[in-house]
Amino acid sequence: MMKGFGTLILGLLLFAATAQAEEQRFHFERPLMGTLFQITCYGEDPEAAKKASEEAFGVGEEINKIASDYLADSELMKLKPGDPTKVSPLFAELLDASFTKARETEGAFDPTLGPLTKLWRETRKTRKLPDPEVLAKARAACGWQDAEWNRETSTILLKKPGMQLDLGAIAKGFTADKMFEAMKKGGFPKTCVAAGGDLRMGDPPPGRTAWRVGLQTFDLEKPEEVVELANCAVSTSGDLHQFVEIEGKRYSHIIDPKTGLGMTEHVAVSVIAPSGTIADALDTAGCVVGADKAEAMGLKFGATRVVVRK
Ligand code: AMP
Ligand code: MG
Repeated sequence: MMKGFGTLILGLLLFAATAQAEEQRFHFERPLMGTLFQITCYGEDPEAAKKASEEAFGVGEEINKIASDYLADSELMKLKPGDPTKVSPLFAELLDASFTKARETEGAFDPTLGPLTKLWRETRKTRKLPDPEVLAKARAACGWQDAEWNRETSTILLKKPGMQLDLGAIAKGFTADKMFEAMKKGGFPKTCVAAGGDLRMGDPPPGRTAWRVGLQTFDLEKPEEVVELANCAVSTSGDLHQFVEIEGKRYSHIIDPKTGLGMTEHVAVSVIAPSGTIADALDTAGCVVGADKAEAMGLKFGATRVVVRK
C-alpha cells in the first residue's frame, strides 16, 4: 500500500536542533501510507531509540492494515453496507474521532466519501469529469449521516448500498499521534513524528524551548513561516500537490460534499492543534468550508491556530 491515505505533503519542513549534553539525536524513516514517515527523537541510548521506533512504526503499520482503502482486506474495506459490524479498539478510536469531526463540521469533513474519492482517482487518470449519472450514483452512496457509529458497542453500520469509508483526511494525523505515544512509552518524550506533512511533536529537543517547523503551503522553495511548537501537532491541506486540471479548472483531491467533485478554490489550510487527529481532520474541513470560514471553524473545534493562504 504505497498510495494510502492521500499523498499530499504540503511541505512542512522540520529543522533539527542540535543536541546538548549526552543526549543524541536519532532519526528513523519508513515509507507508509503512500508517503514517508519520519521519527526524530532525542535520548541517550541508541538501542532503546531503535527499539522504540520499531514499536512506533509497528503501530503505524497496524493502523494502515486497519484503515487503508487501498488494501482489499483492511478492516475498513471489509465493512459491508447493511451489516452492523463490531470493530477493533484501534479502529473504534479512529471512527469515533472521525464521526465526531463530521458532526462538528457538519460534514465538511465527511468520512463516508469513499465512492467519490474512487471517482476522483479515475478523473485524475482519465482527465475527464465523471458522467453526471455516475456522479449522481456515487453521491447517493455517500453521507456521514447515513452511517451509524455506535460508541457504546463499537459498532458501525453503513446504511446505504455502495457505501464505503475513506479516512484519508484524518488517518495520518491519527497515526502520528499513536506513533508519538509509542515513542513516549518507550522513554522518548522528546520526539517529533512526521507522517508526510502531518507532524506530532512532544517535548522540545534538549536545550531548546520548541521544535522549529516551517509551514510550507504555496511556495515550494521555502517555508512561508517558521513556527516554534512543542507538545502539539500541525497539519496542512490544500491543492498544491494533488489536483487534476480539466479545461483550465483545477480540481483538488479534497472533495466538496456539495458537488461531489474536487474543490476548485485555491487554498491551503494549516492547523495547529493539541493532537494530529484534530489537526488533520480540521485542515481538510477548512479547505472545504473555504478561506473565509476555515479559521473560525478550526478554532471552534479544537485548533489552537489556523493559517489560511489563498
Ligand atoms: P488531507 O490531505 O488531510 O486534506 O486529506 C485528503 C484526503 O481525504 C483525500 O485524498 C481523500 O482521500 C479524503 N477526502 C477528500 N475530501 C474529503 C472530505 N471532504 N472529507 C473527508 N475526507 C476527504
Ligand atoms: Mg486532513
